[in-house]
Amino acid sequence: MNFPTTLDGLYINGRWSAGSEHLRVINPATEALLTTVNGGDQTSVDQAVSAATHAFKDWSQTSGSQRAVILRRIAAGVAEGREQLMQLQASNNGKPLFEAAIDVDDVIATFEYYAGLAEALDGNQDSRVELPTEDFSARLRREPCGVVGLIVPWNFPMVTTAWKLAPALAAGCCVVLKPSEVTPLPELQLAAIIAAAGLPDGVFNLVCGSGLAVGAPLSADPRIAKISFTGSNAVGVQVMQRAAETVKGVSLELGGKSSLLVLKDADIELAVELACGGGFFNAGQMCSATSRVLVAEELADEFLLRLQNRAEAIRVADPFDPNVEMGALVNQAQYQRVLGHIDRGLSSGAKLICGGNRPANLPRGYFLQPTVFTEVPLDSALWCEEIFGPVLCVRSFASEAEAIALANDSPFGLVASVVTGDGAAADRVANALQAGLVWINAPQVIFPQTAWGGYKQSSIGRELGPWGLQAFQEIKHVIRAV
Ligand code: NAD
Repeated sequence: MNFPTTLDGLYINGRWSAGSEHLRVINPATEALLTTVNGGDQTSVDQAVSAATHAFKDWSQTSGSQRAVILRRIAAGVAEGREQLMQLQASNNGKPLFEAAIDVDDVIATFEYYAGLAEALDGNQDSRVELPTEDFSARLRREPCGVVGLIVPWNFPMVTTAWKLAPALAAGCCVVLKPSEVTPLPELQLAAIIAAAGLPDGVFNLVCGSGLAVGAPLSADPRIAKISFTGSNAVGVQVMQRAAETVKGVSLELGGKSSLLVLKDADIELAVELACGGGFFNAGQMCSATSRVLVAEELADEFLLRLQNRAEAIRVADPFDPNVEMGALVNQAQYQRVLGHIDRGLSSGAKLICGGNRPANLPRGYFLQPTVFTEVPLDSALWCEEIFGPVLCVRSFASEAEAIALANDSPFGLVASVVTGDGAAADRVANALQAGLVWINAPQVIFPQTAWGGYKQSSIGRELGPWGLQAFQEIKHVIRAV
């Protein structure tokens, strides 16, 4: 793909413009500069919030059905631009084209799903509330919470955005979106699709830029009713602190340290495939990575051998290579961070089974071999912290109770996977795990109908499903004397 040398990074009140912050956008597979995006600052945030505040007066009064028409147009626009969006995801993020296709299809499904929920709102508005007396009547309204700020990371550009943007628009909120400064290109293209979908000016605003230049003032602006943030815990805490000053609502989707549990009667081949999917999809840069693999001791030796063989056979390559299985990490900083984790893991005494280095045939780009450790100390950073790279830690367990305790022993609680041929054990273990989503014998499939989010320090609130919509609504009851 050929990119213009510079791109305007602001879409405010229905107009594109350039800000003063120059963001260098890199292709992680080649380390080459793709383009420069002119992002914004505090002034751009102020203008975007003003535009959204003005637009909210009318947009909040539209019916759900009217909003659904726009959401469906956005879904159709994304479907029409599918190939180009996939290429942008692959070029800017480093993920293989087949993974980018999954992302784009998820975006389409999310906008279509929330179009349906927006329509359903009309029939439920002002629903009657049963009271224990006939002296009063009561009705329930669900109203948009106001102007919202959406801040997203780089690992699933457009997807994390769609999970916030579609329900916010469906609820009747006006939006200021800040994409990651690392991967602004997919969101810029999505914004162009939204701009063509017929939204009134000011309902949707985009301000590209760094966290400090744009994210921080957005989190602090008193006219914003709610911040919905996906990213690291460190930044999530800062966002929450800034939002606290004006008692804003916050939804947070943060980190994870999730487990895949292979019970004693599991199909080993399936377990190996699911372990690779949970550890190496998106080069492991997933909040939902199941980077702890817990294996029943009866299966441990055979499982580890087969996992090693499979991991060593994974084809790491350019995202556009037709045979690629795993692409590049997103940038130099992330690459160094993951290599640092591998080094500290080795120093902690963990045993490297395979990987740990750059593939010999890929001298450029942020490529890393799929990496597997075992004998990882329980108090090491490798075991306890989110790595956000293609690194799995395998450990055996003697009993179901031990496996559950190991999986739950984390400040995070985002997801988990269970592999077993025993249906009763599957449900028993799934019910005991502290995680917002548990997959049984399944890859990490996500549906707009099921919630996304987790326990403990992984999340505040839930995205997707009706919960994703409720996150952008206020509840109002009207009680009348009869
Ligand atoms: P990050 O926290 O560094 O950045 C996320 C976003 O916040 C970016 O847009 C960034 O510019 C912005 N930001 C940075 N500093 C800010 C500040 N002071 N105020 C406001 N905004 C600021 O995260 P990242 O490196 O882009 O993404 C990786 C992290 O995201 C991982 O920890 C991962 O677990 C998490 N994540 C979580 C989920 C989930 O659903 N739970 C999904 C994807 C990623």
